Amino acid sequence: LVEVRGVNKYFGEHHVLKDIDMEVARGEVVIVIGPSGSGKSTLCRAINRLETINSGDIIIDGQRLPDEGKALARLRSEVGMVFQAFNLFAHKTVLENVTLAPIQVKKIPKAKAVERAMELLTRVGVEAHANKLPSQLSGGQQQRVAIARTLAMDPKLMLLDEPTSALDPEMINEVLDVMIALAQSGMTMIVVTHEMGFARKAADRVVFMADGAIVEEAPPETFFTDPSSDRAKDFLSKIL
Ligand code: ATP
Ligand code: MG
Repeated sequence: LVEVRGVNKYFGEHHVLKDIDMEVARGEVVIVIGPSGSGKSTLCRAINRLETINSGDIIIDGQRLPDEGKALARLRSEVGMVFQAFNLFAHKTVLENVTLAPIQVKKIPKAKAVERAMELLTRVGVEAHANKLPSQLSGGQQQRVAIARTLAMDPKLMLLDEPTSALDPEMINEVLDVMIALAQSGMTMIVVTHEMGFARKAADRVVFMADGAIVEEAPPETFFTDPSSDRAKDFLSKIL
């Protein structure tokens, strides 16, 4: 579903993505892990073209991601992105947050969009808060709304960049449970996370990045118990 081929990205002189090659099959769940500054967020943003790249190709569902224009907008709408900061519209209700893009971008009739939004809010367990403003919800609830909002666009792929790292510890599990259910439903996911529980329960593969390059790829059980590179061993000794 996703092919990243020979992607390079510079910020000025700084080479932040170095010849990245990565494939993600339909239904696969890939965890991206690595030290701060290794390029994980930049890679996610490049896959969604929130960031331009200097060379290489990103192909989503057989289509090369264009640099701009309508075709980019369409392809981008097929890739859902969830960030560390929930990025909900503060002055709109939870329900409005979830229905806005389907109504405005996908031209779905309002009644239908509302019905579908309520289904999704129920799926992530926040339906009781549909008419509240985001500020009236906990961080965990807000992040679940952000996931529902992304799902409302029927993405082919979900990119989640440290979705739980801004949350208080007691709210992490409620978001991870939603992510695990999503993974089990067959969604293709690329998740930047250091949450081992999620990696073990839901990931098919771990991609380990350091200094802008992919250093190692392995199934979670292999990666966490028997990493092959020194960089990964060193990294794991610090986070485990
Ligand atoms: P973290 O775990 O801290 O989120 P990361 O692996 O997501 O780190 P990136 O945010 O992708 O790392 O950053 C990779 C490198 O690119 C870092 O050295 C960072 O300072 C640099 N960088 C990121 N965004 C920009 C930008 N807009 N302009 C200049 N440099 C940037
Ligand atoms: Mg990051």
